[in-house]
Amino acid sequence: MMEKRVELYAGKAKSVYTTDDPDKLVLHFRDDTSAFDGQRIEQLARKGMVNNRFNAFIMAKLQAAGIPTHFEQLISDNEVLVKRMDMIPVECVVRNVAAGSLCRRLGVQEGIDLNPPTFEFFLKNDLLHDPMVNESHIETFGWATPDEVVTMKALTFKVNSVLKQLFLEGGMLLVDYKLEFGRFRGEVILGDEFSPDGCRLWDVNSREKLDKDRFRQGLGGVVEAYEEVARRLGIELPQ
Ligand code: UDP
Repeated sequence: MMEKRVELYAGKAKSVYTTDDPDKLVLHFRDDTSAFDGQRIEQLARKGMVNNRFNAFIMAKLQAAGIPTHFEQLISDNEVLVKRMDMIPVECVVRNVAAGSLCRRLGVQEGIDLNPPTFEFFLKNDLLHDPMVNESHIETFGWATPDEVVTMKALTFKVNSVLKQLFLEGGMLLVDYKLEFGRFRGEVILGDEFSPDGCRLWDVNSREKLDKDRFRQGLGGVVEAYEEVARRLGIELPQ
């Protein structure tokens, strides 16, 4: 059994702990939900547990599809054991349908199909509001090498082909999502989490939002929507 040692870092929704094994960390999914670069934070009952279970299910699917991830095993309702990586400080976003910042930045209408899907890099920096950056910035500032950029892009698109289909089978459109990668023993692998906090999911027929936009837009029923997404994928959640 992996014992938690010291808290290394507390993010907006997860806390990170060291373990006896220097190559492994414990992620604790809290009930905190934040929006607008952490300016608004609320506790939503069950959210940590739901996202932890959801993430474990998705990471296992991705791993089975040949995408290397940091996921090791679920430890408890709110905790997961992961590989300790050296994180790459950029976020990779793929979009299948226009929403969110793409619409604000480019003035395109929400809901239009994006063909081919777009790819964007953002710098992980709340103080700067996660500005969009390009491959040239990433190389010049040393955030990742050109080879790592190629790998992150390829893996992010591979995730799209796996998850678009998976969500469609549950009657949902994978509108967009954000991934974070890190290095483990010289290899670029998927880290962080995949949950409705970091993607957009719409009901394929009604286009009802089933993701964190319910929180950002004050629509209510946030955790209820996340549980509905889990239910549609066949994920069992404790009462
Ligand atoms: N996203 C995220 N963390 C961020 C920014 C974006 O998880 O710090 C996710 C977001 O949930 C969405 C996708 O990345 O699924 C694209 O987000 P967008 O650029 O549209 O930004 P937003 O409108 O969320 O500010």
